[in-house]
Amino acid sequence: MAPMTAPHGTPPGPGSAAGGRPFLNRRLASFGTTIFAEMSALAVRTGSVNLGQGFPDTDGPEEIAEAAVRAVRAGHGNQYPPGPGIPELRRAVADHQRRFYGLAFDPDTEVLVTAGATEAIAASLLALLEPGDEVVALEPYYDSYAACIAMAGATRVPVTLRPHEGAFRLDLDELRAAVTPRTRLLLLNTPHNPTGTVLTETELRAVAELAVERDLLVVTDEVYEHLVFEGAHVPIASFPGMRDRTVTISSSGKTFSFTGWKVGWITASPALTAAVRTAKQFLTFVSSGPFQYAIAEALALPDAYYEGFRADMARKRDILTRGLEAAGFEVFRPAGTYFITTDITPLGERDALAFCRELPARCGVVAIPNSVFYDHETAGRSLVRFAFCKKDEVLEEAATRLRKL
Ligand code: PMP
Ligand code: GLN
Repeated sequence: MAPMTAPHGTPPGPGSAAGGRPFLNRRLASFGTTIFAEMSALAVRTGSVNLGQGFPDTDGPEEIAEAAVRAVRAGHGNQYPPGPGIPELRRAVADHQRRFYGLAFDPDTEVLVTAGATEAIAASLLALLEPGDEVVALEPYYDSYAACIAMAGATRVPVTLRPHEGAFRLDLDELRAAVTPRTRLLLLNTPHNPTGTVLTETELRAVAELAVERDLLVVTDEVYEHLVFEGAHVPIASFPGMRDRTVTISSSGKTFSFTGWKVGWITASPALTAAVRTAKQFLTFVSSGPFQYAIAEALALPDAYYEGFRADMARKRDILTRGLEAAGFEVFRPAGTYFITTDITPLGERDALAFCRELPARCGVVAIPNSVFYDHETAGRSLVRFAFCKKDEVLEEAATRLRKL
């Protein structure tokens, strides 16, 4: 498949070249203000219910917030912590990988703490890609993937997830056809934002076989690993031949509902970790000092925490699913994440971006147009994402407002 060269779908906003910022280099010229920033600002301006940007409206466990306070007061992490992350957190990440997936990683050479998953993605792509390399990524894709591939001077090659029996599925033949001699890595995301798709074991096995056959690296964003509602999350690193070619990314923001703390990490072989660490040193060097101590404690929370978190989100998913269906949307019930993708066609609407920009004025709700995460614009034109990591009464209120449409 030919690589895409069209500008990324992020709408030209005040930050885009067309919007009057003449100094932005060519690699970033097609990137406007992120859709999350645009839509959260719109929510604040209009006093709307914000089901756009994915952040919970309830903070994570009180005891973990207290652990952060204790760390600040005890002077733990108030000065630059070690570059790779504090040993306590690296050990906690390694223990977590063993506890949930039976994967053994050396905390000293195979774990790297980052400023959220966002920095892990940036450092991985900046470290591993040469200019001109191709990156095969699932479309729709999380916006920072496109920007980081561009900053690395590489080319994104999207493989579109297509609706099939109520979910967005990966076409393995399309994936195979997207790989060329210039492909350096596969960029995966499961559970998948924004569609809520969880790649099945069969799909993951096929992706792994392709990576081995074509000798590709895999960077896999698994930040929603603890939000799988049917079945269990399976890391692609656990498939044969994958451990030493995979960089696995996760973040405490999603699992522990502290998105502002920006504590993320990678697990990978010593050689891949060393490469990513080299780039990370010059992005932030270190971050989130005292929060690293708190997240080390969070990762060790008992199974009841993880199960409760998932059950709570599953219930919220059902509340919002019912609300969106009652309002007339076509709903793709997510198998994972805290997002629901809908199609607005049954409402007589066609353009997701226009719809989302008008939605606050029409009924006081903010959502995210999936269309900006596509290169193949027609594939996502009428798709809109709603976040359900919100209080039950907020979801009910949004549903009531949406019924006015
Ligand atoms: N990857 C995906 C798929 C996401 O949805 C997000 C947003 N939360 C991130 C990465 C960024 O995570 P963080 O806030 O830890 O940087
Ligand atoms: N990951 C969040 C989402 O998908 C947004 C994070 C951000 O604003 N960068 O909604």
